Formats: sequence, C-alpha cells, structure tokens
Amino acid sequence: MANDPLYETIIGLEVHAQMLTRSKIFCGCSTTFGAEANTQICPVCAAFPGVLPVLNRELVQMAIKTGLAVHGTIRERSEFARKNYFYPDLPAGYQISQFELPIIERGELTLDLESGEKKRIGITRIHMEVDAGKSLHEGIQGASWIDLNRTGTPLLEIVSEPDLRSSREAGAYLKKLRSILRYLQVCDGNMEEGSFRCDANVSVRRRGDTRLGTRTELKNLNSIRNVMRAIDFEADRQIDLLESGGTIVQETRLWDANLNTSRSMRGKEEAHDYRYFPEPDLPPLVITRERIDAVARQLPELPDAKAIRFSRELGLSEYDAGVLTSSREMASFFEETVQQGAHPKTAANWITVELLGRLNREGLEIEQSAVTPRRLGRLIGLIQSGDISGKIAKQVFELMFETEADPERIVAERGLKQVSDTGAIEAAVDKVLAENPTQVQQYREGKTKVAGFLVGQVMKATRGKANPAAVNAILQAKLSG
Ligand SMILES: [Zn+2]
Repeated sequence: MANDPLYETIIGLEVHAQMLTRSKIFCGCSTTFGAEANTQICPVCAAFPGVLPVLNRELVQMAIKTGLAVHGTIRERSEFARKNYFYPDLPAGYQISQFELPIIERGELTLDLESGEKKRIGITRIHMEVDAGKSLHEGIQGASWIDLNRTGTPLLEIVSEPDLRSSREAGAYLKKLRSILRYLQVCDGNMEEGSFRCDANVSVRRRGDTRLGTRTELKNLNSIRNVMRAIDFEADRQIDLLESGGTIVQETRLWDANLNTSRSMRGKEEAHDYRYFPEPDLPPLVITRERIDAVARQLPELPDAKAIRFSRELGLSEYDAGVLTSSREMASFFEETVQQGAHPKTAANWITVELLGRLNREGLEIEQSAVTPRRLGRLIGLIQSGDISGKIAKQVFELMFETEADPERIVAERGLKQVSDTGAIEAAVDKVLAENPTQVQQYREGKTKVAGFLVGQVMKATRGKANPAAVNAILQAKLSG
C-alpha cells in the first residue's frame, strides 16, 4: 500500500515547462503550437552544419522571473552544456542544456495541504534547455515521421528535492508550480499539449531508515491525476517486491494510463552516459545584479502573497483565500467583483460556492464563465442595497448564466425587486393570519415556534420578494397585539 505503515514513499519531481517566448531558444522560428509539420524550422533549429546558436533574451528574463518566484538563487554566471545522445527527432545528436552551472539553484515552494498544513519543498535547480522534435508513429504504416517544429522550443527544467512523501503532495506541488508559472505568464501549463511535463523519481524505504532506497523514474505522465496514480502504483510495486525478497532495479518506467500499470522502458542512464561538456558555441551567460533587480521589480503579486493579503486585509478565511488565489484568473475574477462594490466576504462566498459549483457541473473554467465579475459584483450590490433578497439573488444568478443579461435587467423584467413597502407586506401578513387560525391560536398559547411557519407563508404569498426582516417585525407585532 502506498500509505503503508512500515514504508515511506520518497518522491522527487522533474518538470519540463515550455516557455512562452515568441521565438525559439537559439533562432527566430515561431513557437506556436499546432502548425503544419516542419513549417517552423530553419537551418539553426534543424541543426545544419556550421550554424551557430544565439540565446533568446526573453527566455533569460523568464528564467530569472521563475527563479525569483521560487526564492531561488540566480547565478550571475551560468554555462550551457552539451548532453550527447542519439534520437531521430534530435537532429544535432546532442541537446543544449545546462549541467554543472545552471541559471538557478536552491529554491523552494510552499504547499498548502488539504489538512490545512503548509509544507516547504526544496527546489534543487532550474536550468534552461532546448526541446526535441516529435516522432510520429500512430496511423503510419511501416515508417515513422519526424516533425521538427518543436525542436528548439525553450524549456525550463525544474528539479525538486526528494522532499515529497505521497502522491497527494506530488499533486499539490505540481498544481502550485503550474499556478506560479501561469501567474508569471511564462508557461501555459497545458499538460495535454505537453507544455508542462513531469517525470517522477520514486523510491521507498522502511520508516525510520535514513538512507534512500533505489529509485525508478516514471515517464509519460500527461496529467496530474496520472502522476498521482503512477506514483501510488510504483510505491506499491516496490513495497511488494521488497516484501517478497526481491531487489529494485534502477530503471526508467513508462506509465500506461489505459492499463493503469507501468512497464520497464530502459535501464536508467547515469549523467556520465551523456558525456556532458561545456557547449563550445555559446559563451557563459552573465547576468548582472542590476538585471536581476530590474526583473524583481516587475514581478506580479504571487499566489502566496496574494492569499496573505486577501485574509489580512479583506478578512477572508485562509481556505477561501487559498481557493481564490489558486489561479491568476480566479484571483482577478474575485478582485474585479470586489471593485464593483461587493463586500469581499460576500463576493468570496458567491464565487467559491455558487459560481464554482455551477462551473464545475458544466466542466468550465472560470475564464469561460457566462457571468462576468462586473455582473456578479452588481448582483451582490443589489443584495447589499436591499433591492433583492439573497434567495432571489440565486434565481437571478441562474438566469444571468442562461441569458448573459445584466442583473438589474433581469430583476426589472421579472418583477423580482424586493418588497420593503410595509403596506404591501402588512396586507400579505393579514391574509396569512386570516387563513391560518389554528397556527395563530397555537402561537398565542405559547408555541412561538410556529412563527417560522407563518413567515414562510408570507414569503410564499409574496413569491419570496418580501423583505424578510420587515415580514418578521410586522408579523411579531400583529401576533402579540
Ligand atoms: Zn529555427
């Protein structure tokens, strides 16, 4: 079992994040996803003899941003290295990466666990490297095709310390990292399209043991859910193997999401298998302190800082603050709603309960919401001004979703404005009292609980539009009169 009382699971994650630069890492070719095969290539990214790479400045900015966001150390001098291996979709026969001197070292990221605990996960390093092309095998008889459009797309490889102890923590780490990259607008985080990919290193050891067990590397994990399932499967497999007297082999295993199992792909390479050496075509990358400071000044407010501000300044619970900062889009939605005059706590409630509930049922993201923050803010404004009750607001909200109309218009067209006019409420109360003599008698004999029933009848008679506070006051006055 992955949560075995005798064993502990140790996980480290390597994330490859495609950076949203307009052009590739060493040439001017476009990085747009989904273009016709081999239309976004040139002699540089196709690795013709004699070409020379020129480093993309925008990529370096993005790497510095990312490093600062995870509290890493930006090296003022880093180096590119050649990682040599042969693969048909790697035309140069080597990958330009960083090895001994990566651009960023020693960062960390804080997880907000479901238990409410916070846990710090170390980031060993972040380095820049070039992506390979794609080999296409599916639906092609007797051949494989190569598409080099992706060759030369810039990647950041983000390597965590083996600090994660369960598949849940691994899932939380990936969500947090992806959210930070999206806040920074350096990566779209799309796992299905492969712009945010993850390999997991997994080992197990007996609880109390300080040495790490032999680890395996899991690949082909194209969703957070698959990462978590693959880790659980692998931990169970290793524990079963150890319990039956076997030994774990260091290897790379491929996850098969359809069969819910993994299989050995190859023995795991060691760094020396790649014959790394300093890249002779690129000088060391020097980043000045001034440049780092300039990037730091442009950093947006990140999820952790935003969550603290939401709870301290706006009075939200830590939980609501966490949900509302989980993505940049969610946070902006909330902030724009509040800008319309909505009380922050009320806005938080409406977004986390009504809006997210509805979006989840329809499988939509917040940026696809038919109800805009401006309209939601105004709907809440109508409750605050006493124009409609909270109950009617829910009806209006559903209608806003269906019609995409302004709340004021829905309220006016459907006659949903709350009745605060005491004359009208008094008439409704009189009618209800006349129709329910038994309950009135009971109330006067001391069963004051029936007042709730009578209030309900008045609300029903006014189709929910009567101001509940006014109904209560008038009813009490008449009953005790
Ligand atoms: Zn190119």
